[in-house]
Amino acid sequence: MHIDVTSTKCSGCSGCFAVCPKKAISMEKDKEGFLIPMVDRRKCVECGACVRICPAKQEQKVKENICYSYAAKLDDKYNDIRKNSASGGVFPALAKYALEIREGYVCGCVLDNMLPKHIISQCWDDVEKMQDSKYVQSDMQSCIKDIGNLLHKGKFVLFVGTSCQVAGLEEYLDIANISKANLLTVDFFCHGVPSPMIWDEYIDFYKNKKKRTPVNYRFRSKEYGWGMASRGSNHLGSVVFGKQVNRRDNFSWAARMWRSIFFSNLCIRQYCHQCPYASAQKPSDMTIGDFWGIEDICPDFDDGKGCSVMIIRSSKAKCILKQTPWLVTKDVTLEEAVKKQGNAFAPSIRNERRDAFWNDYYKNGFEYVANKYFQYDGVHRMKALIKRILFALKIRNIY
Ligand SMILES: Cc1cc2nc3c(=O)[nH]c(=O)nc-3n(C[C@H](O)[C@H](O)[C@H](O)COP(=O)(O)OP(=O)(O)OC[C@H]3O[C@@H](n4cnc5c(N)ncnc54)[C@H](O)[C@@H]3O)c2cc1C
Ligand code: SF4
Ligand code: SF4
Repeated sequence: MHIDVTSTKCSGCSGCFAVCPKKAISMEKDKEGFLIPMVDRRKCVECGACVRICPAKQEQKVKENICYSYAAKLDDKYNDIRKNSASGGVFPALAKYALEIREGYVCGCVLDNMLPKHIISQCWDDVEKMQDSKYVQSDMQSCIKDIGNLLHKGKFVLFVGTSCQVAGLEEYLDIANISKANLLTVDFFCHGVPSPMIWDEYIDFYKNKKKRTPVNYRFRSKEYGWGMASRGSNHLGSVVFGKQVNRRDNFSWAARMWRSIFFSNLCIRQYCHQCPYASAQKPSDMTIGDFWGIEDICPDFDDGKGCSVMIIRSSKAKCILKQTPWLVTKDVTLEEAVKKQGNAFAPSIRNERRDAFWNDYYKNGFEYVANKYFQYDGVHRMKALIKRILFALKIRNIY
């Protein structure tokens, strides 16, 4: 018996790919561009390891019976670092601990040639590339196995990814009988992951329309702050083009459209619509996210520069927290922590036009769906530009 799944039943965590002793599994794109395992039957010996490891086929495991919740942010001394993070900068705070105190490794998601991938590194430059939420599914590549090898050698590893990626990693280590004592796993409240194929199409579309080649993308720019003042606005996407001129495209709708694509739920992995981790109970040592509502719960703690919610559910994570004095925390109740986290209660809802979207895309291409579903038509573009200008002139506070 071997694994046989579609992206409706599989999260793409790549645990089965890592565990196969015969290297019979490769992760291949399905028709929506999501990676799923494909088994080479000539190599497969039907050992069943891929089925046993699969977190999508099991009950979720409970870590320890502890739960501490906090509001958290990097100390003001590190504002230069926090400004590049999506929220309070818990991730770089933990990366600093991993690299400086434990001389270990950090595994997180970077944009490599504009495609989101997990890499493992000991270098702060890479930590900077890992900062910011890439709202596209990340390719885990060989990270699960590589982390196993590092842990086996007694190295410390910080892993940050989606809950399903954490579940795949933890299952692999259990099956391979590798100690997790030197591993800290961190996941986040997760809206779901959009298709890398649609992302790729979007970048090509931008290149063709603007005759510019983006070299980076800020999904969560804090150029105008973070929180109530800016979360409703659209400056998530600044396409940086031409390193040498270092200009940013904050104005065109083409540059800012990804946020609409992400939140439309038209091209999120089907599995995410039944995500088993859409609760406060998750497979990681620690869960982070944006602390939406912090301005009401702890107004003194909110400085508009980014605040994270942080939930700790292992004594290992609690102990590490004591060794990160550069992370400022405030105790909150679990109820306060998750109050505005829609995905702590239920998975993101499938858009009823999802099938129509994909049919339209296959038949007519990306530009057609950009017009029909993502307001790329002339009228909407003009409206978006006017709103953007009024926002830049401070006449509107959100747009
Ligand atoms: C697809 C996605 C959906 C999210 N949905 C929500 C949500 O509904 N509610 C909420 O509160 N927060 C959500 N987040 C998390 C939030 O955006 C912040 O990442 C989180 O608050 C951590 O902030 P930070 O300042 O500590 O991290 P940062 O310093 O910004 O670091 C971001 C971390 O996330 C990792 N990461 C980035 N992109 C990906 C990716 N595509 N796949 C796996 N790991 C990635 C990086 O490796 C890095 O470790 C989501 C993030 C992603 C990537
Ligand atoms: S182990 Fe992960 S990648 Fe493999 S089938 Fe299960 S969910 Fe999919
Ligand atoms: S919504 Fe759930 S299944 Fe989808 S990427 Fe996030 S954690 Fe994984």
